[in-house]
Amino acid sequence: MRSRAWRTVTIGSAGALFLLCVLTLKGVAQSEYMSGQGFPYGAFDRLPATDVAVQGGVIHLAFAPGRIDLPKPTIEEWVRRSAKAITTYYGRFPVKSARILIVPSPGAGVQGGTTWGYRGGAIRIVLGSDATEDDLRRDWVMVHEMVHLALPDMEERYAWLSEGLAVYIEPIARVQSGDLPAASVWSVMMRDMPKGLPGPGDRGLDNTSAWGRKYWGGAIFCLLADVQIRERSNNLLGLQDAMRAVLVAGGNHEVDWSISKVLSVADAATGLNVLTSLHDSMGSKAVRPDLEALWLRLGLKHASEGVEIDPTAPLASTLAAITPIR
Ligand SMILES: [Zn+2]
Repeated sequence: MRSRAWRTVTIGSAGALFLLCVLTLKGVAQSEYMSGQGFPYGAFDRLPATDVAVQGGVIHLAFAPGRIDLPKPTIEEWVRRSAKAITTYYGRFPVKSARILIVPSPGAGVQGGTTWGYRGGAIRIVLGSDATEDDLRRDWVMVHEMVHLALPDMEERYAWLSEGLAVYIEPIARVQSGDLPAASVWSVMMRDMPKGLPGPGDRGLDNTSAWGRKYWGGAIFCLLADVQIRERSNNLLGLQDAMRAVLVAGGNHEVDWSISKVLSVADAATGLNVLTSLHDSMGSKAVRPDLEALWLRLGLKHASEGVEIDPTAPLASTLAAITPIR
């Protein structure tokens, strides 16, 4: 249980990773809501909360004391929009009841997020007092954290799977719910996925805590799995079906599973062994997939402004199934 009491923090636009204590040291005022390594369940439950109904559950939304310029209904709408991306991807919200705590902090934008599950699904978001409606429209942190709710808690060495799924699924879920254009998602993946490739001395995803390997290396694993499942099922199934099955089997963030259980439950949904065998090859040794060749097969070409999509490419239908063009 103790290992579930803390999680690393996603810091807004920089995409960098810091520990909780860093944020505390930066002087975020509400210590009762920011101190310690766990979610402040007791303090949260003493705050007035607004209930936001989502498909398959309810979100209890509460605000720690402090200034936030945006009106609360705008923030509620951000929570609702983010939850819709998640329910579109997963078919339902991952937990029946989730606490979301918004902690105001001096400055702009969405400044970070953390997710826990050990006493019920809970997300804490640090929101700049000066954040604008446009910041919330462009935000990815809330959806990223909600993806974490849709995976059992695992040993820390497998954080690459949890972060990889969040990095990979967050923009795809937002495309599927109509919040992002497909081309922008692939443009970012093509730009940033090389950060997840193994460096010298790498001993596989299970044995490195390097930021790039954890976040983008995990995302590469997810992309390879998605493409393989779709190729081998004639594009009938994808990673989305596999991860929905984990949720249906009760595998949300409130439970503790081994990675082999997560992957085998996901694999059983497709009748293929893609996730388990990819983990067998990428978990304990450095694997360096040819991303450039994969982009071309998917019909993705670097262009002066982002990306060009070629509908005649061999895997064009796979790309369209992952991120339908609107
Ligand atoms: Zn994360």
